[in-house]
Amino acid sequence: MSKTLAVFNMKGGVGKTTTAYNLAVGLVKFHSAKVLLVDIDPQGNSSVSLGIPIWELELQLKDVLQKRATVDEVVIFSKSGVHVIPSNILLAEEEIPISGLPGRELLLRKALSNISNNYDFVLIDCPPNIGVFSVNALMASQEVIIPVDMSYLGLLGINAVERAITMVRSALDHPIELAGVLGTRFDGRNKLSKEVLSSLEQHFGSKMFQAVIPETVKLREAPSYGISIYDHDPTGAGAQAYEDFVTEIVSQYE
Ligand code: ADP
Ligand code: MG
Repeated sequence: MSKTLAVFNMKGGVGKTTTAYNLAVGLVKFHSAKVLLVDIDPQGNSSVSLGIPIWELELQLKDVLQKRATVDEVVIFSKSGVHVIPSNILLAEEEIPISGLPGRELLLRKALSNISNNYDFVLIDCPPNIGVFSVNALMASQEVIIPVDMSYLGLLGINAVERAITMVRSALDHPIELAGVLGTRFDGRNKLSKEVLSSLEQHFGSKMFQAVIPETVKLREAPSYGISIYDHDPTGAGAQAYEDFVTEIVSQYE
């Protein structure tokens, strides 16, 4: 059965994109899963990280949301094996027009409804806010993965994320579940990293993923080559941590 998961946090720089694309590639590489990554952030970072030249797109996610193109016409087969619905900055220009459409919260869910069963996993990389695009992502998803970076502001931001998810559940009547919270950008030399991780563990208990993603130069570099961490630094700590995370995700849905 297909699972649709949003990678969401309103804070920027917490590792949403890094997590979304390395999760997508890991599911294909280690588990032979069929994976679609939907890039609903106008920054297009997850598309770029998978080697897609976002400056040359003829069609992209915005055309699907505006019913000018079907998903089939827009999907790109990236060299990693992940299928991608890409975006670039032109998506940002459509935020206000899309916000005025009837049924605006359900545009992505409807667009994916015909094709999600072709995939084992549909992953949606969200922008760092709770505007119409993140709402579409959450409304299209059964569960949400929340990456949290090991900073004081990261910890504070959790409250806003929980409120946004509660809003989707109650005001929009969508029973989205928490897949789990992923600690990211962990620096073992840093006392704050350990304190933030232990606060998160206290707050989320078994909803914390066991994997914790370290802060590494290799994870930061990989997008500039358009490749995953498993190809950029296969034996490094970042690849190991993301592979462990991928295994946890797979075992949740077996
Ligand atoms: P978000 O999508 O939440 O805004 P990103 O995944 O784009 O966050 O990460 C923000 C920046 O930090 C990017 O330059 C990314 O390469 C870098 N980054 C993310 N996670 C790590 C990590 N674990 N180690 C080192 N750099 C990271
Ligand atoms: Mg991002």
